Amino acid sequence: MKKSSFLLFLTSFILVFMTPVAQAAPQPLVRVGLWTGQQSVVVGSSVAYAVETEQEQPKWARFKAGEQVVIAWKPNGMTVNGKTLRGQTLYLRSNTESARWEVNRKKYRGDIVLRQTTGKTGLTVVNEVPMEEYLYGILGKEISAGWPAEAAKAQAVAARSYALNLMLSGDRHRQDGYDLCATVHCQVYGGVDTEAPDMIQAVAATKGLAAYYNGQPIHAYFHASSGGHTEDSENVWGNALPYLRGVADVDAQAPGSAWEKRFNARALETLLTQKGKGVGVLKSLDLSPLSKPGADRTESGRVRQLQVAGDKRSLSLSGVQMRSYLDLPSALFDIRVVRALPSELDVSVETSYGATVEKKMPVSLKEPAESGRWNDPARIHRIIRPADDIVIFSGHGRGHGVGMSQWGARLLAEKNKYDYKQILQYYYQGIMLKKAY
Ligand SMILES: [Zn+2]
Repeated sequence: MKKSSFLLFLTSFILVFMTPVAQAAPQPLVRVGLWTGQQSVVVGSSVAYAVETEQEQPKWARFKAGEQVVIAWKPNGMTVNGKTLRGQTLYLRSNTESARWEVNRKKYRGDIVLRQTTGKTGLTVVNEVPMEEYLYGILGKEISAGWPAEAAKAQAVAARSYALNLMLSGDRHRQDGYDLCATVHCQVYGGVDTEAPDMIQAVAATKGLAAYYNGQPIHAYFHASSGGHTEDSENVWGNALPYLRGVADVDAQAPGSAWEKRFNARALETLLTQKGKGVGVLKSLDLSPLSKPGADRTESGRVRQLQVAGDKRSLSLSGVQMRSYLDLPSALFDIRVVRALPSELDVSVETSYGATVEKKMPVSLKEPAESGRWNDPARIHRIIRPADDIVIFSGHGRGHGVGMSQWGARLLAEKNKYDYKQILQYYYQGIMLKKAY
């Protein structure tokens, strides 16, 4: 070997062995707050386990698989089956990663940690679980089994991005000592009991993959169905996120998308008063029809503003407020006011003996046209007889309408043969998909 080629060999040898091997970042551990303020908690495990604190690892706190233990809160510590254990943080320990913990009759993977609840009495129960296993417990709650694989994968990436986003911003539950709670406030998490094989597969097939915008995991909002058009984020929460723009959707005819909710005019009056939005005797509601939308609707057709007039005052309420006050499935709705119809009528019937008796007969009458004055514009919905009139809200879609529609994702996969990446890029604009770990 010539000197120069030996040097070349040596250099490449050094380069190969000195270059650090690109190591995948480990998947993050998600600390999920399962409960707070618990006076006592019943725990168990699928394997033999121990209950310890940072100060004590007593022999008596070792238990068999399936053995249930009561952990109770005390002002300056905790008791395990009535015996005091010194320390502020309590751990359930086993010598295997396959342990399934049972807490208050629900099953969890990962680790279980208990500590004093911040700011009030009782115990906080935290489930520390690797991100991928956390997602197993999310998806079963969000989509039912049997959905197309591509829609389930899109949901897995959305839920992962959403969790990463919340964990990075990190301030939602910092005071509480965990990253995310297990309710709609963050993401509904049901642990092992909600896991389904299809969903575990969807998580595994997209392992570590998340949606990014400007280098940050996105706030991947999703909802059940948009009713035909998704919504710009600012129309619901006030903050305009560039990747959360409304798009035309394929889910207008999705099962369960159309809905109707009826209120007696008096009941509606009372409901609004209870929410601090009373107007006196309800006189009219002012909202342009979806078939001829005005400036009181957003581009997606959702209600931006609705005028409620009474004999005391007149108010402008947003579609988001109406949805929340009246518990409407979505803010994409029309209004009409009709007179209540009887479901039975008194009729005189002649018996076979020739006598006449009064009888109640069930009837189904065709709903009359909207009450009001003949020259009222289509946007005015007048209440003429508050005791009899029925205000009907009829709409489309379920949920806030921002980001991915779960029904839309399903239909895009089934009918348009979209893969999960196309589905995600359809609902979240300008995103980049990459592995977070
Ligand atoms: Zn939360």
